Amino acid sequence: MKNFAYTRATSTRDAIAQTTGNPSAMVIAGGTNLVDRMKVFLDQPSDLVDLSRLPLKQMERTRSGGFKIGALVTNTTLADHPEIRRDYPLLSRAILSGASQQIRNVATVGGNLLQRTRCPYYYDTAFGCNKRQAGTGCPAATGVNRGHAILGASDQCIATHPSDMCVALAALDAIVEVEGSRGTRQIPFAEFHRLPGDTPQRDTNLEPGEIITSITLPPLPAAKTGVYLKLRDRASYAFALVSVAAILELSGDEIRSARLALGGVAHKPWRSPEAERFLVGKPATPETFTQAAAIALQSAKPLTYNGFKVELSKRIIQRALAVVAKGGGLA
Ligand code: SF4
Repeated sequence: MKNFAYTRATSTRDAIAQTTGNPSAMVIAGGTNLVDRMKVFLDQPSDLVDLSRLPLKQMERTRSGGFKIGALVTNTTLADHPEIRRDYPLLSRAILSGASQQIRNVATVGGNLLQRTRCPYYYDTAFGCNKRQAGTGCPAATGVNRGHAILGASDQCIATHPSDMCVALAALDAIVEVEGSRGTRQIPFAEFHRLPGDTPQRDTNLEPGEIITSITLPPLPAAKTGVYLKLRDRASYAFALVSVAAILELSGDEIRSARLALGGVAHKPWRSPEAERFLVGKPATPETFTQAAAIALQSAKPLTYNGFKVELSKRIIQRALAVVAKGGGLA
């Protein structure tokens, strides 16, 4: 690891002032991904600004009945919060399906959004990698790409986003509040992360010097029966091969609204508006769910080693929708 200057931010403004205009400065909170990257020289900041003592740990109801979560709330605290477990159980379930208890105890909500892909070529500096350094190629495209994207990839990068929590936040239409030198702004979750396109080195639409301060969940009664399911190579401490967050609003057997987000299949949590539109007005039956799953995967472009993800994604969607239709939640 390269030497760096370490400071503790005294306020959000202080953190922004210390990082704005200094491209080699970085912020750290839980550090559960950043420190790993620093150890293998992926990130070599000259200055590391510690946010962990800032007052961004609030969890509170919004006036509209939603929920506001400070960026420094730990994954464990959020997953265990009784109102999150009751009103947004898919979010709790998604968090608890990721990492280990020890990591969740220190990993923060803001950091979860900013973690980077676990593409093995990205972490191995013996290989080129367009995400690490533009123009150096994508060895995964012709290499071992079993864990890579089947949706929304580009010829520049086929990496997947590693977060479970973000898949649930995508389905919930969370809002990300950020602060920078020009003030605060709110970013709809669907616009926070980016597809790789020609700029795979950029994972998010955060501007330099901007810091995540909170995440807001909108009020959503149907989320009480929403589910998060995850399929992976081993039972714990593994990233998703595919995962799904599903929410249905039902009137009897008829679907009034639907939300469907996939993880492990794209460079960002992948919403399927086509499948969601198809579901509205249909009966909540296995046949409907099978058709919705096919629609959600109709633009999939599997690679040499990850064709299995297409069928796996269809099956996990069908399963998740069936579980939601039977009452879902943490069951
Ligand atoms: Fe790098 Fe993306 Fe290719 Fe992985 S998939 S090697 S992160 S460019």
